[in-house]
Amino acid sequence: MATSEELHKRRVEAVARGVGSTIPAYVDRAGGGTITDVDGREWIDFAAGIAVTNVGNSAPRVVEAVRAQVERFTHTCFMVAPYESYVAVCEQLNALTPGGFEKRSALFNSGAEAVENAVKIARHATGRPAVVVFDHAYHGRTNLTMALTAKNMPYKHRFGPFAGEVYRVPMSYPLRDGGLDGATAAARSIEMIEKQVGAENVAALLIEPIQGEGGFVVPAEGFLPALREWATAAGVVFVADEIQTGFCRTGDWFACEHEGVEPDLITLAKGIAGGLPLAAVTGRAELMDAVHVGGLGGTYGGNPIACAAALASIETMRELDLAAAARRIGAVMGERLRAIAAGDPRVAEVRGRGAMLAVEIVVPGTLTPDPAATASISAACHAAGLLTLTCGTYGNVLRFLPPLVISDDELGRGLDILAAAFG
Ligand SMILES: *Cc1c(COP(=O)(O)O)cnc(C)c1O
Repeated sequence: MATSEELHKRRVEAVARGVGSTIPAYVDRAGGGTITDVDGREWIDFAAGIAVTNVGNSAPRVVEAVRAQVERFTHTCFMVAPYESYVAVCEQLNALTPGGFEKRSALFNSGAEAVENAVKIARHATGRPAVVVFDHAYHGRTNLTMALTAKNMPYKHRFGPFAGEVYRVPMSYPLRDGGLDGATAAARSIEMIEKQVGAENVAALLIEPIQGEGGFVVPAEGFLPALREWATAAGVVFVADEIQTGFCRTGDWFACEHEGVEPDLITLAKGIAGGLPLAAVTGRAELMDAVHVGGLGGTYGGNPIACAAALASIETMRELDLAAAARRIGAVMGERLRAIAAGDPRVAEVRGRGAMLAVEIVVPGTLTPDPAATASISAACHAAGLLTLTCGTYGNVLRFLPPLVISDDELGRGLDILAAAFG
């Protein structure tokens, strides 16, 4: 077998430079809480392929379901000749997502595609043009979702012009907004919407209940419920982007449940199908069904193999109670991270929920972001066999997203490496 070094040489000659990788190691196999490269080096996995393999890599039920489906048929296109598993995934999503009202779902391939479709549905149903998003938001890399995403480098730089009718308002970010309470932070955002956009022009308010790429920003309590309440009164579709937070990651099936928020539409992807590409929009039947027949779809959306994997993943989450596993991981990890923070003045804050935790790194004694220190701690982790990711508008947040099936031993070893990397 080729070595990681040989594969990296081939990659540089074959793969576009714009596609980056966190580690220059080429994967041979992965499962539980580890990834092993072609040279036999092992990493403890605190990335889960960016919050995708919540059920672990090659989860037994997923493997079995995919194998069985790939032998029956691989693709007919649901818009041409439909099949049961697509319907069954929609039934599961309608039942699992918050909100006791009647729901419908539609399936797509990627998170960005789900977000684009949520905007299409909200605009069609309301007849309004504007979409409101937040500072530090991340919603994808397609043209509309680049416009919705906040951060220029690397996501938007020189890729414009971007889609119109997108308006950005402040996020609740307690570390950096002087600790505004949720209601006050929401009032500030709402006033900006009303004065600068006009509520009656707004189709959708789109928000990640805990921001992902933007820095694992957890809004102050009350922020999401206040926005939800305003959206209802203003006839604005409240869209929760749960692409990174969904499927047990934060210790509930969905992060909105933490404060009892019921979105009108929810976008889903990442953790939905154990690593196979699948995404969804789930929401109020009257909004979803407002769109004319043929108005939604796509060649591969709800591919039968991905649907089989999603049903098996959801079953695995139920059977193993991965929401409880996420809470357990969060308790163990949170304690270790707070101990690290207590002894290291570079750590401004430990935040997140469940198995979606992060530390924000600053110049000691200030709130000045320190992306260089963040990168060097992350590099020390990689060198010592722990796969970590960074994020944040300022590139100064280390985030931890282990598979929810990681063993106690793997989790402990990973945290030991992390503690050592802080030195
Ligand atoms: C990853 C992500 C997306 C985009 O998903 P893709 O599958 O990469 O297109 C959108 N929103 C959030 C919150 C995400 O984390």
